[in-house]
Amino acid sequence: MTTVRERDAQPPVWALFAVLGTLTAVGFVALKTTGDVPVLASVLYTGLSAITAVTVLTVTHVRRPAGRAGWYLLGAGQLAYTLGDTAYLAGARAFPSLADVCYLVQYPLIIGALVSFVRRRTPGWQLTTMFDAGIMAISAGLVSWVYLIGPLTADEGMTAAARAVTIAYPVGDLLVLVIATRLLLGGGARTPSFLLLLGGLLTMMGGDTVYTLAGKSGDAWSCFLWLMTYVLFGAAVLHPSMHRIDEPAPARPAAPASMRLVALGAVSLLAPVVLLVQYHRGDVRDVPVIAVACALLFLLVLGRMAGLVTAQHRIAVTDALTGLTTRRAFEERLRAEAGRRHRTIGVILLDIDHFKLINDSFGHPAGDRVLRDVARRLRAAARPGDLVARYGGEEFALLVSDADEPRLAALAERVRRIVAAGSVDVGGGVHRGVTVSIGTAVLPGDADGPDELVRVADRALYAAKRAGRDRVVAASRRPVVPEHEGWPEPVPLPRPRRSEFEAA
Ligand code: GH3
Ligand code: MG
Ligand code: MG
Repeated sequence: MTTVRERDAQPPVWALFAVLGTLTAVGFVALKTTGDVPVLASVLYTGLSAITAVTVLTVTHVRRPAGRAGWYLLGAGQLAYTLGDTAYLAGARAFPSLADVCYLVQYPLIIGALVSFVRRRTPGWQLTTMFDAGIMAISAGLVSWVYLIGPLTADEGMTAAARAVTIAYPVGDLLVLVIATRLLLGGGARTPSFLLLLGGLLTMMGGDTVYTLAGKSGDAWSCFLWLMTYVLFGAAVLHPSMHRIDEPAPARPAAPASMRLVALGAVSLLAPVVLLVQYHRGDVRDVPVIAVACALLFLLVLGRMAGLVTAQHRIAVTDALTGLTTRRAFEERLRAEAGRRHRTIGVILLDIDHFKLINDSFGHPAGDRVLRDVARRLRAAARPGDLVARYGGEEFALLVSDADEPRLAALAERVRRIVAAGSVDVGGGVHRGVTVSIGTAVLPGDADGPDELVRVADRALYAAKRAGRDRVVAASRRPVVPEHEGWPEPVPLPRPRRSEFEAA
């Protein structure tokens, strides 16, 4: 959306450019179809192309938007096009000619521009969107192979250069289509400038398709679409929102948009539809190409589904507030670990002391903040391979493999200290200390099975609560002493500490 400031600061030059450009394009078609003054038509055509190139490059230079590389590449691509048009007018009519070289140079430049915009709008690979773009690309590639590239290159008398250039145009368009799709699906701010740019890409591919299918007879219309591409590119760079075209995408909802799934479904059905159409016409061709496209589409759809299943699984086993593993996933892993022979398993159960007081004194959001902070400290205290879970409201659990009692006790004590160290910001600049009571148990020493293991750890936890909180108690009923004091000498229960909340 255009902000008020953007509108105030910039007169609508982009709209003026769009209107005058469109009038030029219409005038061109009128001159072209009546066959009058072909020189004027050529001047209009090449003039608009050159003005667009200069506009894109100059505006980018003057406004210096962040991520201007994309705009510069777009301008350079437009310049290449203008040179191609000039070469064509100057008489480069053989095929392929110098004009074709210039036209083809535009593809890597425009693709570079789009890749630059994509990278800035949506950093990272965005695998889902890549899969979607891949599905679109293969379907579009198949259709263009069967109905465009194949017939175009069927002429046996064609030179190798002519064949290569003939194929290069639709392949270039296909690449532009793929990256434009990625740009569209990848999220990010859909500013007017962004939409004008996408519109320009659409008319560009439309012009190419009309030219390829209709040849000379569609010349005026393909030229009209190309002129509209220039108009839309120029308007895109002139629009005040041009500096926001690479604005990164806001966080996207995890659920796939149903429209997108319908579109992907329809697109991936194109390959078998092409085969059926050929079969009904009694002209089955390109069977290997169609078979490979079907197989690739099948694999991509499978990959896309695997991605969805993985994402759903991640949501199911992750606690939304803390990002830790859920209780259910913890219990599943515990049972799986317990099923393995010759392994000891340790469980550490923690409960935040006087947590209700935090909620009551500072509000529920403050309580949530404390839960997140404790979770962060637990992750820091745990070793790689330990499973840290949110077991209940303000209860946490650690699953430790191959842990004997002394090592488990040392780890539990480390956890207790790390949680107790420092304070938590409960909001409004108020900081409070947080302590936890901990119970530990090992299998097979303290229990016969996983369920009993948790039960005895829970009992130890409540023993720690009863003994005064902010301490570790092992299921073997021995209180745990801080590491530096040694283990496993029998020691008396540590002196109860008065927590800050008790004192409050
Ligand atoms: P103790 O030292 O005996 O453990 O006392 P406590 O106050 O921590 O224990 P109690 O079980 O009475 O309180 C737990 C509280 O945790 C009650 C509940 O409202 C709160 N709680 C549970 N889940 C959440 C949550 O997701 N967010 C917040 N803010 N509070 C939660
Ligand atoms: Mg509790
Ligand atoms: Mg508690």
